[in-house]
Amino acid sequence: MKKIQMVDLKGQYNQIKDVVNPSIQEVIETTSFINGPKVHEFQKHLEQYHNVKHVIPCANGTDALQIAMMGLGLKPGDEVITADFTFAATVEVIALLNLTPVLVDVNPDDFNINIEAIKKAITPKTKAIVPVHLFGQCANMEAIMDIAKAHNLFVIEDNAQAIGATYTYKDGTKAKAGTIGHVSSTSFFPSKNLGCYGDGGAIFTNDDDLAHIIRGIVNHGMYKRYHHDVVGVNSRLDSIQAAVLDAKLPYLDSYNRARQTAAKKYNEAFKGVENIITPVTVNNCDGICDACDCHVFHQYTLKLKGVDRDALVKHLNAHDIPCGVYYPIPLHRQKAYADSRYNESDFKVTNQLIKEVISLPMHTELDDEQIEYITSTLKNFING
Ligand SMILES: *Cc1c(COP(=O)(O)O)cnc(C)c1O
Repeated sequence: MKKIQMVDLKGQYNQIKDVVNPSIQEVIETTSFINGPKVHEFQKHLEQYHNVKHVIPCANGTDALQIAMMGLGLKPGDEVITADFTFAATVEVIALLNLTPVLVDVNPDDFNINIEAIKKAITPKTKAIVPVHLFGQCANMEAIMDIAKAHNLFVIEDNAQAIGATYTYKDGTKAKAGTIGHVSSTSFFPSKNLGCYGDGGAIFTNDDDLAHIIRGIVNHGMYKRYHHDVVGVNSRLDSIQAAVLDAKLPYLDSYNRARQTAAKKYNEAFKGVENIITPVTVNNCDGICDACDCHVFHQYTLKLKGVDRDALVKHLNAHDIPCGVYYPIPLHRQKAYADSRYNESDFKVTNQLIKEVISLPMHTELDDEQIEYITSTLKNFING
């Protein structure tokens, strides 16, 4: 059996070497390392893939979020509502811009931001909502857009984990994750569903004016060479990363399909195991997501009921099975973001989830033998 990894970047690279290597080589030969033609080509292909008017590539997913917020003109003291159960980057950029983060609870089933909690958190100072499409499926965007419309708020989708996922509205209309809010961000960190070989990110919007503002911000606030109209940043996707991404983009759907297939096999293996709750999909498609693409399984995350998680992690590791706990501490209890405004009673779900969740290896190269080994080793532990 191949060694099991949380993410198998090497195995994936070996499959696409013949496509990626010449693409990188081309950049080196032409030495157009910054803002070269590869960046523009990738941008166009990503716009086409998402059916979105503007993609603005940038240096990483954290920058993408920050620049989106700068582009919207959010001002110090503006309140931005986001999920308590996510990677810290989301709340970090809010705080960094001197905006006021307002962390709220999530749903116990799909782990995404809770709609009632958003409603409860709105004040006259609220300016934006940042839903995070956690672990690969969209937050309840229809409800979030309705709230935003009613209260005149911006919606910034943090789509670092769900690139390629499809969101289905109640009337059956479909849209790609990251094309629904006013603006969205994504990350091409190597382990993300579309990963490059270094850092990378992008901002998406259908708003022409906002796209123009953001294109300047990513490049030192420059709209005309050496004319700096706004305070910007230096955040570019370099051409080598764009070359990798442009070579990989045609595989994104098949990569997500491979993740869905692995998730389905995990689900089947855990069927009927009392102490394990397998991931819930918004469309209740029971992991058979190739039908609707609602979940692209950036992570495959179980909830454990009455299981000693620490002991389970030890057991898995002892059998050479890596696993992860995403996330072990809710953001409202992180030193950097703790605030006397928060009441523990408002975070019942995240406080519970951090004790119950465990993520299993999930990537494009998992084979049946590995999945069988992982699931049987886990079940052996549960059944004593
Ligand atoms: C990965 C990630 C980010 C940050 O992306 P980087 O490219 O690492 O800066 C932001 N938000 C979420 C939810 C992420 O998973």
